[in-house]
Amino acid sequence: MSVVIVTGVPGVGKSTVMAAAEEYGYKIVNFGTTMFEEAQKEGVANRDDMRKLAVEDQQRLQKQAGEKISQMGDVVVDTHASILTPSGYMPGLPEWTVKALNPDVIVLVEATPDEIAGRRSKDASRARDSDDIDLHQNVNREYASTAAVMTGATVSIIENHDNQVDDAVEQFRKILKK
Ligand code: AMP
Ligand code: MG
Repeated sequence: MSVVIVTGVPGVGKSTVMAAAEEYGYKIVNFGTTMFEEAQKEGVANRDDMRKLAVEDQQRLQKQAGEKISQMGDVVVDTHASILTPSGYMPGLPEWTVKALNPDVIVLVEATPDEIAGRRSKDASRARDSDDIDLHQNVNREYASTAAVMTGATVSIIENHDNQVDDAVEQFRKILKK
């Protein structure tokens, strides 16, 4: 297996769940960090400001990041199925990006809206939006399915509930072992 895309709403704990990937020889790439490296060259100061840029600017940065990551070989990509922008939910895996990445699996990490709201309130390092978490997770399922149908990737849903992160990591290990 070569490319695994891991998605989930901000604060669901995807970075924690995917930490096991390194044991299996995968490089972990954070899509937002790769995008932010490009955005900083254009004067964007904070990664949480990127989703407020004009959608066409976000798409340009997204394309640059997707192209870079598609050259990296076996990777687990930490990203989003959708990004909440002022003009609506922007696909994180639009046709041009998902076809460039050509994933084998698209993982959705999920938890209950209350669990996610609790995790966000404990993380002062990020500027999180106060949005409708249930709706965002539903939109993510729809967008992930579309990306899967375009590429033939499978979709796997990992539940990351409070005090059960070991279970979530185990679910992720099973995906990587295949
Ligand atoms: P994160 O640290 O994963 O929350 O990502 C930081 C920011 O990177 C997000 O708020 C988005 O602005 C941007 N980002 C991450 N992945 C994508 C993507 N696939 N498409 C567009 N923007 C993305
Ligand atoms: Mg993260």
